[in-house]
Amino acid sequence: MGDRSPHMIRRGLLIGGGAVVAAGAAAAGVNALAPVVRPETPVFGINRSHWSLALPQPNPPPARDVRADVIVVGGGFTGLSAAYYLRQALPKAKVVVLEAVRCGNGASARNGAMLQTSTEDTYMEPDVDPAFHRRLYALTRDNIDRIRRLSAETGVDCDLDQQGAVQAAYDSGDAEKMPAIAERLRAAGLPVELWRSEQMAQALGTRAYSAGLYEPGSGQVHPGKMVAMWKRAAEQAGATVYEGVPVVAVDEGPLVRLHLAGSVTASAPIVVLAANAYSSKLGYLRGAVAPIVNHVAITPPLTAAQRAAAGWTRRIPFNDSRTNVVYAGLTRDNRLHIGGGVEEYEFNDGLADPDDHGCGVAFLRRELGRLYPTLADVPFERTWWGFVDMSLDGASSVGRMGRHGNLLYAIGLSGQGVNFTSVLGRVLGDIAAGREADWAWLPYLGRLPPYLPNEPFRWLGVQAGIRLLSS
Ligand SMILES: Cc1cc2nc3c(=O)[nH]c(=O)nc-3n(C[C@H](O)[C@H](O)[C@H](O)COP(=O)(O)OP(=O)(O)OC[C@H]3O[C@@H](n4cnc5c(N)ncnc54)[C@H](O)[C@@H]3O)c2cc1C
Repeated sequence: MGDRSPHMIRRGLLIGGGAVVAAGAAAAGVNALAPVVRPETPVFGINRSHWSLALPQPNPPPARDVRADVIVVGGGFTGLSAAYYLRQALPKAKVVVLEAVRCGNGASARNGAMLQTSTEDTYMEPDVDPAFHRRLYALTRDNIDRIRRLSAETGVDCDLDQQGAVQAAYDSGDAEKMPAIAERLRAAGLPVELWRSEQMAQALGTRAYSAGLYEPGSGQVHPGKMVAMWKRAAEQAGATVYEGVPVVAVDEGPLVRLHLAGSVTASAPIVVLAANAYSSKLGYLRGAVAPIVNHVAITPPLTAAQRAAAGWTRRIPFNDSRTNVVYAGLTRDNRLHIGGGVEEYEFNDGLADPDDHGCGVAFLRRELGRLYPTLADVPFERTWWGFVDMSLDGASSVGRMGRHGNLLYAIGLSGQGVNFTSVLGRVLGDIAAGREADWAWLPYLGRLPPYLPNEPFRWLGVQAGIRLLSS
């Protein structure tokens, strides 16, 4: 990992090494031999995360055919925030969300709960474009203010704590680079502080890190409660949310027709695909992202004595500078959650329960003991996994596609979507309302990430990337 990045962490680079293999295969023309991509029935594993316990009661599926002005496929942060903003942008439009299982069954209620400003992708180069850096920082920080206001308006407290977040240097090499990175970010106008080992230990308790970058505008939420907040916001704004209704196929046309499980159909002149890592199963965006599995674990509430011994005095979440990043946080009820580490990609965008979960949890246990030796024996109350929609350059994409330009999408959040999804939800609302020109400055608009080839080159490339970056 070079030191170009403003942040040390480039989750998007996880499969970057794979790009070398993949691009080579594609360039040689052999990609043409890869299997033709057809829509397949996706597997929707049930979300059994700690966050899922706070998910709202699911709504019933539609009893008859649905006709709407805009249909959103997917009830995660992207889909629900898009529905909310669509109604803001088009107050008379009939907006419907179709969610396969229940809202929050995907990554939105399985993640590491970090609510981050900015992003950590290919566009973030403060030396090259400090003005863009400042603008994206302001946009993402403002989005956190919007979430706070919406939480008050909807009456759904999503446990938003904005005490900042830390990016910790995993090794001495990364620690050495941090002063220069902090300086560049500050020169670009971002309020980032360089923390040395004493400040790290004082705030986070752990003595594992000799340096870190503290950014005061970031924070954390309870992801399950935030799904509940977005669902309430979308419904209060006038959108209809159906759950337990997988979309199984899309027929394009000026009026898009969606086939739902059972014999029901749904149609609308505009459809928003907010299916994240599951998108390729509908036959879309396969070249944009690969689903990468990521593991998370949470302890029971720590006792006062355990917290005092661990010394995590401020409720500040952190992640480290490894590309297969480890992240941790402390909930309002004092549970410690930790995630990341072992990453896996299953052939042909497999979304079944991963074989390596035990291995992922064992890794997290070792990490917990390394970071907080006094908590080494505290059991995990729950463990789970989720799929990250990883793009090759770590950057998101939002725009319109399809033969009639009426399929809207947001994809490639690459492990940094707790905050950014609802920025893109707002952009989607504006695209539907014909106001995309307002977002022309945003490099994520109207693009797709670098191309990921079909199988078997896809599997070979992603595996190579994972191995390379885990070594
Ligand atoms: C383990 C893990 C840790 C993470 N940690 C962080 C973090 O700390 N901070 C951060 O910023 N980001 C993090 N992320 C990323 C973040 O969670 C995601 O970027 C974000 O939740 C994506 O939201 P989404 O709405 O796009 O996708 P999802 O929440 O996955 O929603 C997609 C929805 O679409 C539904 N769907 C799919 N296909 C269909 C279909 N055919 N028909 C109907 N419905 C369908 C799914 O059931 C799902 O509910 C993490 C992700 C994971 C997996």
